[in-house]
Amino acid sequence: MRKEKLVQENLYSLNFYLKNDLISCFVTCSSIPKNTFALVASSMSYMKWFSIVLIVLVQHTYGQESISEFQAKQAVYHIVQYSGLLPNFTVRENEEVTTAIAYIKDKKRYIEYNPAVMESLMDSTKTDWAMISILAHEIAHHLLGHTLAPKLLSPGDELACDRYSGFILQRMGATLDESVAAIQVAGSAQGTKTHPPREARVHAISQGWNESLNQLESKIQGIAPADKIYVLSLRFDGDENLYYVDDASNVLWYNEFAQPILLGKMVEVTLGDYRYEIVWEGQKFYVDRHNKIWNMTTYNVMLKVGKVEILGTEK
Ligand SMILES: [Zn+2]
Repeated sequence: MRKEKLVQENLYSLNFYLKNDLISCFVTCSSIPKNTFALVASSMSYMKWFSIVLIVLVQHTYGQESISEFQAKQAVYHIVQYSGLLPNFTVRENEEVTTAIAYIKDKKRYIEYNPAVMESLMDSTKTDWAMISILAHEIAHHLLGHTLAPKLLSPGDELACDRYSGFILQRMGATLDESVAAIQVAGSAQGTKTHPPREARVHAISQGWNESLNQLESKIQGIAPADKIYVLSLRFDGDENLYYVDDASNVLWYNEFAQPILLGKMVEVTLGDYRYEIVWEGQKFYVDRHNKIWNMTTYNVMLKVGKVEILGTEK
């Protein structure tokens, strides 16, 4: 019974690997592009080949506690938030993968992880950052375009993803030790054809971690303090961003690190129906009594381009 179940499971995982164009992973075994199986299969007898697949794929620890999909989704969401992106990854449990994998299927980006392996890694490293660093590494395979082209991954690709995981973990508040914890436990000391030795990977993560720290320390002071009082918000048609006007008439936009960027000024005017003038990168906009924003076209025709919302007390 047990044997039958194992065979069934492994046929499933084999199918799974063959169906996906490219799989990028954290550690060696699950980095198996489509052709690898065909190559392996043609070079040895079926039975021998099948038993190798069995050994490679059946490494789960049964009956172990595992992390929930909610925890993994939450971790991916936070990583993506710190990267300044919108979450567009499908995060799923898959007990068939060795640690975690990234791949694209039907133009959708997937990240799959083995819940029991993640849990045991978090146990042995004694830190939740282990899971976050692995997921950050997988997200990097997507962001760096490795999942777009079906080819064997190079050690350089892996180091680039490690560097990214170090960078993001520093931003998220992990110490350097916490950022390298997962690779210290799961990384291969000698390295493999696709994955560099543990030492190099620790170095790449540290590099990213230090880069992030240096960047934060040498950051130019923002132009507005965090506790600004906002009077108005501006919304332009066809632009999803929200812009703010503070009590010193600055027009500001916030980047993904919640830092304000000064875009222009909004000043009171007496000009026919218009109450305010917004000067923004050489362009002029006008705000009427109904809080509509107008812009003059090249044909000298005023066109409604947005609206103003009052947030605080008017000046
Ligand atoms: Zn990888």
